[in-house]
Amino acid sequence: MTGPAPTMRRMGITHVVAIVLAWTTAGGQPPAERQAMLQEVDAIWRTHGVSIVALGPDRMVAPPSADVRLTVELARARPAPAPGTRERLGAIVFDHDNVPATTLTINVAAVTALVTRVRPGGRLFDQWPPAWRDTLVGRALGRVMAHEIGHYLLASRAHTSEGLMRAAFDGDELLRPARGGFAVPARDLPRLRTRLAGLGRASSLAENAR
Ligand SMILES: [Zn+2]
Repeated sequence: MTGPAPTMRRMGITHVVAIVLAWTTAGGQPPAERQAMLQEVDAIWRTHGVSIVALGPDRMVAPPSADVRLTVELARARPAPAPGTRERLGAIVFDHDNVPATTLTINVAAVTALVTRVRPGGRLFDQWPPAWRDTLVGRALGRVMAHEIGHYLLASRAHTSEGLMRAAFDGDELLRPARGGFAVPARDLPRLRTRLAGLGRASSLAENAR
């Protein structure tokens, strides 16, 4: 059997993407930050019928309903950006045939540094209550992750002038409560549907081959 469980289908979910979170350097992530991150990335993709399910280290086997399994590397180290360029918040590699890799990287240090320069209510980041800080950083990380997953699910390196696939986000956009600015642009939706249908077929074939 493949495809999302009946309850998920009722919720409008047609595809499931399983993600495995990996740290590239030692050190964990505050639980509240991780929770906010996963909630945000799932909420952004749910509006397009895709549920993002995180797999813990104790559960490395993707649920049978998953169409694709991605590894997300949460990088703490900050490689210096080339002079005159913006620091990259996340990355995904494409091969020569324009096929995206199933591993993507989120530059946690860069995202954190970007949002700490924002001062909501004029308050310095260090003065925010820790619980609030974790929630906000988690939200920003979730949005950056949703963008990189967008490159994978659209199988495209292209950026758009608005929405989730913009080339750059500022700290304020990553923090504001409303996530209206993080939808897949309408003109990319046919491409997304085609690609999701293809991924669903591929996972059914893999299931049948077992
Ligand atoms: Zn991008």
